Amino acid sequence: MIDAILVLNVGSSSLKFAVYPQTSATHAALLRGKIAEIGSNPVFSAHDAASIAVPENRFPPLNRAMILDDVVPKLLDWLKTYHGGFTIVAAGHRVVHGGRHHGGPARVTDALMAELDALVPLAPMHQPHSLKAIRCIAVQTPEMPQVACFDTSFHRTQDRLAQLFALPRALSDEGILRYGFHGLSYEYIASVLSAHLGDRAAGRVIVAHLGNGASMCAMKERRSVANSMGFTALDGLMMGRRCGTLDAGVILYLLEEKGLTTQEVTTLLYRSSGLLGVSGISNDMGVLEASEAPEAQEAIDLYCYRAAGELAALATAIGGLDALVFTAGVGENSALIRKRICDRLLWMGVVLNSVENDGNASRISSVYSAIDVLVIPTDEEAIIARATQLLTIAAAVA
Ligand code: ADP
Repeated sequence: MIDAILVLNVGSSSLKFAVYPQTSATHAALLRGKIAEIGSNPVFSAHDAASIAVPENRFPPLNRAMILDDVVPKLLDWLKTYHGGFTIVAAGHRVVHGGRHHGGPARVTDALMAELDALVPLAPMHQPHSLKAIRCIAVQTPEMPQVACFDTSFHRTQDRLAQLFALPRALSDEGILRYGFHGLSYEYIASVLSAHLGDRAAGRVIVAHLGNGASMCAMKERRSVANSMGFTALDGLMMGRRCGTLDAGVILYLLEEKGLTTQEVTTLLYRSSGLLGVSGISNDMGVLEASEAPEAQEAIDLYCYRAAGELAALATAIGGLDALVFTAGVGENSALIRKRICDRLLWMGVVLNSVENDGNASRISSVYSAIDVLVIPTDEEAIIARATQLLTIAAAVA
């Protein structure tokens, strides 16, 4: 039996998990899986280190009444009986918001949990779920060390200007700032950039994380200089269900003239906008690409138009562009979206090799392109595993 780290990446309705050897968390995961559609139609899927699928019936039955509080203990119990040759000795979690002061991961303590609870209003669709997962593990195995890894940490290297809104100073001083998110994904991409780009990895790079949530990060020397998300995960790019950047006057109008409640506005901005709102069909890019409805095509056009515009603004923050990286579900898999975005960047010297792009190759730019364009699969779980290894083994030695 080897000691292992359990990594949990909990979303609003799904839980991704991975198990890594504790002493070599840079290695591939021993087991990876997902419980999707929690609260509606939970589905378990997993595969081992050899990519062999774990039969769904090896996991205890799930039903639609189950919420995260039921699923996490079930997963912990199941891992004890899995016969994978490991024992879970520590847990690492993706936590969306770490506030102003966490520039890196932190060991979970009561004080930390109180701090993270206070940030729930800044990430209402994400933060409560990760905190719940931490508490479920603490109840079941109170002695197990846990580590919180924040999506905001990677962006704490940004200059003050990149973090400020043009609001009265007192509000900035109390923490109404641009925090930025998807930092664990950006940290992973930054960690593998040299393998793809050599010395150019230290240059001006923009990473486009295009998943259900979507953002971009402008890096220099593999550190975050600016990004498209702000105070909450609503800002910036158009997303699956979120609107992205919006004239704040629209919100005032919805509240004052249309009489919407703040809860209704929250649902509108987080759940009913973006690709779903514009198309009226789906938040899923694959579904929209397959649709011939003009509304689906308009949603895709707007997504790419907005993405190209955001990218150009971020390029200004780093004084130009040497490389563009696409990652996450849409970025890694959709040749159409990469092409539509890159076609709008021809003026910057971005030229794709259409054969490589259609094949989801890791380098998709043409030899005539002034800018390297790459597709790199992200791995947030690997970053969480490494952080958990460092903070738990170091603590055990001390
Ligand atoms: P999350 O932010 O939940 O981790 P993902 O990174 O898995 O999401 O991205 C999910 C998105 O990726 C969905 O909109 C899905 O349609 C899209 N996607 C996945 N594969 C493809 C594909 N082959 N073509 C177009 N879109 C795809």
